[in-house]
Amino acid sequence: WAKSEGKGTWKTFDPVRNASELARFHLSATMPAALEHGEFYVDYQPLVGLRRREVVGVEALVRWWHPDHGRLGPDKFIGLAEETGLIVPLGRWVLGTACRQAKQWADEFGDTAPFVSVNLAVRQLREPRLVSDVAAVLAETGLEAAKLQLELTESAVMGTADEALEPLRRLSEMGVRIAIDDFGTGYSNLAYLRHLPVHELKIAGSFMEGLRNPDEPDPVDARIVRTLVELAHTLGLSVTAEGVETEDQAQRLAAIGCETGQGYYFEKPCLPDRARAFIADHLPQWA
Ligand code: C2E
Ligand code: MG
Ligand code: MG
Ligand code: MG
Repeated sequence: WAKSEGKGTWKTFDPVRNASELARFHLSATMPAALEHGEFYVDYQPLVGLRRREVVGVEALVRWWHPDHGRLGPDKFIGLAEETGLIVPLGRWVLGTACRQAKQWADEFGDTAPFVSVNLAVRQLREPRLVSDVAAVLAETGLEAAKLQLELTESAVMGTADEALEPLRRLSEMGVRIAIDDFGTGYSNLAYLRHLPVHELKIAGSFMEGLRNPDEPDPVDARIVRTLVELAHTLGLSVTAEGVETEDQAQRLAAIGCETGQGYYFEKPCLPDRARAFIADHLPQWA
């Protein structure tokens, strides 16, 4: 990394930090080779039932281990990958990797094994091959469709014409779970939401801020979360709260009726070994 400036030292140009057009170009230009060379990897973050504190799912979150810049989070490169179209092969790679991993856990833990939840970009939803790709990955990995969830952001789905949602219906008919990600941050068309083949709403972490301070929770945030949970239940959907960082938040959310939580309080996104240990420690106990 850059040394302090002084005579005889020089500052390394770090394109990621300087986030210029050139840097963006550089990153997007090197992404295809990076995918080929195995520079991407997947972290897993548990989704935890708020009443019994058992693991019900794990979200797959892609990272780029860049030879020059170190670990890059998806916020640095998913947007670029969407622009260049690389999101399609990258997304397929994430899906394959996540399903292979979930199948290992399904073999080890049986029926109580968590589903794996994979983020889909809008661009992937528009790919004619999406449904057949998902079917092929399930067939190749041997993962049950019910152990796969696909997450689409609210804005991705809401802006999409009805016939373009046909792939989601077909995936849902195959038994794949569909979740709406970052719910509450886009504009929601309730009439529209009602007809979507969706199983779960994930409430954006930004609303959890106001639930954090036990002494004075932000009444507006708290009411928004309550309203979103009620809305989900009215539609017959279950709810996951993202960004749960404290026990107090977890309890508040459970009291509101939110089924599932995800956040640093339970576990950060982590490598498969650590995620496996969490799963083993938090398996659902079915009576
Ligand atoms: P997301 O799907 O909403 O994922 C949740 C994000 O919240 C993750 O950020 C996660 O690390 C972070 N998070 C989890 N718990 C907490 C918490 O308690 N507090 C806070 N402050 N944050 C928490 P991450 O990993 O940086 O991912 C950012 C976004 O990148 C994701 O948001 C998702 O939209 C996108 N993304 C990640 N992987 C993929 C992928 O494979 N494909 C696509 N298309 N998008 C992806
Ligand atoms: Mg990040
Ligand atoms: Mg997500
Ligand atoms: Mg989210």
